Amino acid sequence: MDLVDETVVDLPIEDLVVLVNEYADITRSAAGESMDNYPELAISVAATASRPELVATANHLHPVFADSDRAIDRLNRMADAIGLKHRLGPDGRLRWTRPAHADSLECAALAGIIDFVSAHGTTVLGVCAADNCVDVYIDTSQAHSRRYCSARCNNKARAARWRARHRASSEQNR
Ligand SMILES: [Zn+2]
Repeated sequence: MDLVDETVVDLPIEDLVVLVNEYADITRSAAGESMDNYPELAISVAATASRPELVATANHLHPVFADSDRAIDRLNRMADAIGLKHRLGPDGRLRWTRPAHADSLECAALAGIIDFVSAHGTTVLGVCAADNCVDVYIDTSQAHSRRYCSARCNNKARAARWRARHRASSEQNR
C-alpha cells in the first residue's frame, strides 16, 4: 500500500553536515577530490541509502547552506515536492511523515534541517570562505563570526593572509 505515510525521524544536523561535505559534487570538486573514493558514513539512515541517493541528497542540501536568504523558500519547496508533512500522531504529538515511496534519506535530512532552522534561524548556516573549499558548517558561535568549516581551513587562511601582509611590507621597505 503506497498510500500509507511513514514516520520520519530527523537526521541530526551534525550528520547532515558530514553528508553534504563528503558527498556533494560541489564540495568534492572544490577540494580536488572528485575522483576520490566516497568515505563510509557512520549514519544509520545512510546505511540503507544507495550511493546515488546519498549524492543527490547532499547536492540538494548544499544550496540551503550557500544561499541562506533563500533557504526557507527552498526548504518549503523541497518538502512539498517530496511529500514531507507534519501530522498529528495517535498520541496527539506532531511528527514528520512521508509517503511510503519517498526517499527516506532525503526526508530524514529535510526534516532534520527544517527543525534545526525553525529553532535557530538561517543565519547559522554557512559555507567555508577558504580557497579550494566550499564545505558547509553550522555557526554556533555567540557573535555569528564563523567563516571557515574547520580549524584546518582557518589556519590555512590565516597563513595566507600573513604571507600577503609580509610580502606587502617587504616590498614597501625595499
Ligand atoms: Zn573549509
